[in-house]
Amino acid sequence: MGLFQEMAAMGHERVVFCSNPDVGLQAIIAVHSTVLGPGLGGVRMWPYANTDEALHDVLRLSRGMTYKAAAAGLTLGGAKAVILGDAKKDKTEALLRCFGQYVESLGGDYITAEDVGTSVRDMETILAETRWVTGVSDAMGGSGDPSPVTAFGVLQGMKAAAEVAYGDAALGGKSVAIQGLGNVGFHLAGYLQEEGAKVIGADVYPQAQERARAAGVEIVSTDEILGVDCDIVAPCALGATISPETIPGLKCRIVAGAANNQLAEEDRDGADLHARGILYAPDFVGNAGGLINVYNELMPSYNRERAKRMTLGIFDNMMRVFEISRTESIPTQIAAERLAEERIRKMKGLRPKHWGRLINGAR
Ligand code: NAD
Repeated sequence: MGLFQEMAAMGHERVVFCSNPDVGLQAIIAVHSTVLGPGLGGVRMWPYANTDEALHDVLRLSRGMTYKAAAAGLTLGGAKAVILGDAKKDKTEALLRCFGQYVESLGGDYITAEDVGTSVRDMETILAETRWVTGVSDAMGGSGDPSPVTAFGVLQGMKAAAEVAYGDAALGGKSVAIQGLGNVGFHLAGYLQEEGAKVIGADVYPQAQERARAAGVEIVSTDEILGVDCDIVAPCALGATISPETIPGLKCRIVAGAANNQLAEEDRDGADLHARGILYAPDFVGNAGGLINVYNELMPSYNRERAKRMTLGIFDNMMRVFEISRTESIPTQIAAERLAEERIRKMKGLRPKHWGRLINGAR
């Protein structure tokens, strides 16, 4: 499929190719939708094999951001950027600032943030060229590490799932198996323990395991974690771990975690979970806390308590998804996409283009 056909099929508004051989910059910015607000999404730096691979990635990821922001009820559209290159070898101040100039040229239609291969420090470098950047450190007036807020949001999604599956949102006495005890998984374990839940966890990285064990998490092997006898499985490692290979072994009633793209194939695996009576809390609804956190940076001043208060709303968003799934007899993943699409459809005629008071705080 040609680029224009692919853009039309996926609904992208604008794709910008950024090239500056003097500083070695090759980047693509994809603005999928600005119907609900400016497109916010991280910039990924990755040694893509070729331009097509980078283009495919940025088109897919930017559309995902539209759905995440829409389902979270934020005044944000969806966008994403990729820089072609090896973050360890090719990243320079000039390259990042040049990227920042391209971001600035879009006048706020695209707001950047960190992602795989980029860091808080990089966002501060980009800040020299554009105010349309989030994810800078607390010391610079930014929101810092998003993972505690993400974990707090995942907890809300889990509570909504428990409300539906058990008729009670309380997680006390429930057992939760966390796959991946990194930034989000570790914070999630802490929140669950505060709720009185029993936490079982696994990580491929021994130090992450030890840190969690010391905090009272029961450790099992990474091969065992998804098949543990428990109430809830929380995928918090990489994507695509819920697949035809792992679904038959699940002994839980709920799958609710932080990882992006948990289902190896959304339609197929979502339908399989649905048919087995396992309630899946769609990832992009449950893990929106990180996005809500950086969104709060766009307000006149960042405030973590306000970000957490907004993140509490994930409970209601998730309940709405479950309601659509129940009334229309469709898998929750599809119900979540409908929720997002419906909000965009209703707002399509509005086209708010000056981004309102909210965004005036952007540096
Ligand atoms: P992280 O890298 O800090 O943690 C991931 C952990 O998973 C690591 O400790 C890693 O060793 C472990 N891991 C990898 N493969 C594993 C396996 N097969 N079995 C068990 N453990 C495994 O990342 P994070 O920031 O905690 O993010 C976790 C997931 O949540 C990612 O998919 C990320 O995209 C998603 N997410 C994160 C945020 C955020 O705020 N950090 C927001 C939204 C989504």
